[in-house]
Amino acid sequence: MLNQVKITFAGRSVNEGFARAALAAFLVQLDPTVPQLADMKTAVSEAVTNCIVHAYPDKIGPITMTAAIYEGGIVRITITDRGVGIPDIAKAMEPMFTTGDAEERAGLGFAVMQSFMDKVKVSSTPGRGTRVTLTK
Ligand code: ATP
Ligand code: MG
Repeated sequence: MLNQVKITFAGRSVNEGFARAALAAFLVQLDPTVPQLADMKTAVSEAVTNCIVHAYPDKIGPITMTAAIYEGGIVRITITDRGVGIPDIAKAMEPMFTTGDAEERAGLGFAVMQSFMDKVKVSSTPGRGTRVTLTK
């Protein structure tokens, strides 16, 4: 690993923008193209929104983002919460599956992460929390 940052912030909607900006500021050293950066920011937005909306349905809890740069310019981002967890990860990752309000949620967050990143890995323990690992 060449460089890494770790940031913990409150799961408030306003911090979705903070996470995107912090990621962009960290990745400047890689001199990413605008589309590359946009892809990673979009994926992070989806993961952070999921923590705010699903992990902490009725409280504000902590979200930790790490970003690491590896040899060859590989970027690995983790988004971790200490929320409700996901009982069936395979099902949760199916396009159009949502436990949210059907009016507001399309069930496409994981599909978006998968299309904008090379690899998406989810690990979760119900009652303990969830970690999403995004690699590009
Ligand atoms: P959209 O992202 O389109 O607004 P969505 O959030 O429901 O809708 P996904 O982001 O694909 O869709 O997530 C699918 C489902 O996985 C969610 O409805 C929720 O049940 C579960 N989920 C995702 N992230 C978390 C998390 N951090 N904690 C708990 N449950 C989660
Ligand atoms: Mg979502």
